[in-house]
Amino acid sequence: MTLIKSISGIRGTIGGSTGDNLTPIDAVKFAAAYGTWLKQYAQKEELKVVIGRDARLSGEMIQNLVVSTLVGLGIDVIDLGLSTTPTVEIAVPIEGADGGIILTASHNPKEWNALKLLNEKGEFLDAEQGALILGLAEKEAFDFAEVDDLGSIVRNDAYIDIHIDEVLKLPLVDANTIRAKKFKVVVDGVNSTGGIAIPKLLKELGAEVIELYCDPTGHFPHNPEPLKEHLGDICGLVVKEGADFGIVVDPDVDRLAFISNDGEMFGEEYTLVACADYVLGKTKGNTVSNLSSSRALRDITQQHGGTYEAAAVGEVNVVAKMKATDAIIGGEGNGGIIYPESHYGRDSLVGTALFLMLLAEKGGTVAELRASYPSYFMSKNKIQLTPELDVDGILNAIAEKYKDEDVSTIDGVKIDFPQNWVHLRKSNTEPIIRIYTEAKSQKEADGLAERIIGQIKEIANL
Ligand code: MG
Repeated sequence: MTLIKSISGIRGTIGGSTGDNLTPIDAVKFAAAYGTWLKQYAQKEELKVVIGRDARLSGEMIQNLVVSTLVGLGIDVIDLGLSTTPTVEIAVPIEGADGGIILTASHNPKEWNALKLLNEKGEFLDAEQGALILGLAEKEAFDFAEVDDLGSIVRNDAYIDIHIDEVLKLPLVDANTIRAKKFKVVVDGVNSTGGIAIPKLLKELGAEVIELYCDPTGHFPHNPEPLKEHLGDICGLVVKEGADFGIVVDPDVDRLAFISNDGEMFGEEYTLVACADYVLGKTKGNTVSNLSSSRALRDITQQHGGTYEAAAVGEVNVVAKMKATDAIIGGEGNGGIIYPESHYGRDSLVGTALFLMLLAEKGGTVAELRASYPSYFMSKNKIQLTPELDVDGILNAIAEKYKDEDVSTIDGVKIDFPQNWVHLRKSNTEPIIRIYTEAKSQKEADGLAERIIGQIKEIANL
């Protein structure tokens, strides 16, 4: 049972006691804090907020609480109902709304839910704004509307179609080029809203769609994080159906992973690499991903004559760096594609369309495409520490030890060696350090992780 309040929002498990979980009272308190903040931030009388949710079982319950709370504050609500994170993000500016809330715990299992908060551009709030909202929730300093001033609710279920239209209108997406290829695609929507949006998009693009877990019932048939160990069913079905490839998204459709025609993972890390390869081949420019993402993006960007930069982990940090460096595409190695030509948010519909364009123009199989990219292997580990240890001190000692290498300390410690890298980050919630490594072989990546873990243990006297 957990409730995690952070500057990026509130996330917790359903059930149990207030303050320890995401109970109805916690959801109302946090929604009221967001609405109160928005009134101060927008500095206007009439406010409008777009709300949507993924299909998880607690979604309707939390949504009703959040919507009613905003109405109680005198804020009008555009209710998209079952939707996706990128769909709500594009709806906010189209509606001329002042903000947005998506009710989703993203890739987390069914017992979780969360409020993701957007500004008037449909982009995530920054750390400072998040901190203000946490403060307001703490103080419960709310001023609800008089009876004549309550907000209104307008339901609008057209936005998945509008979102698809927006994707098809992108200059680098030519529907006819894709339609001519008559792709056959298996989709695993983990019984959430990706099961609505992705097949619809594919059918618009002339694909034959085989739907696996595309009923938005919220009964996740497997752990919803799109990792290899959870995706046995779709990997088998792609081969059995003789499909061109498979698509997997997380419950709120901002993480995208592909399965190659041979039933092997294309690899979440390579979603962004492939989409960037297509975009960079058409438009010269720069790219950004986070420090824990594959070096393959840097290699592809340099091959196309652009500059790659790394941001701290977290979508809001990646977006800030993309804006600062005029990146034309970016995102996260976990399958998050951010294409500013559309909007500054991770969008699996945009990613799917860019990938289909790449395939349509390149020809060949998805397995061949994957084999054409620089090959890297990651090792993801963590080391359990005791609460009294000085984790920052340990990280500083590692940074000092490698000070003659290419070291970044904007988010934990990242050491870029010529042939491989290691990224160390402490957890904000538990006494652990996460250790990600990447190298040209799995053995080398595992070996580097072991070496660094040994050094941490030595420094910490473990
Ligand atoms: Mg997500």
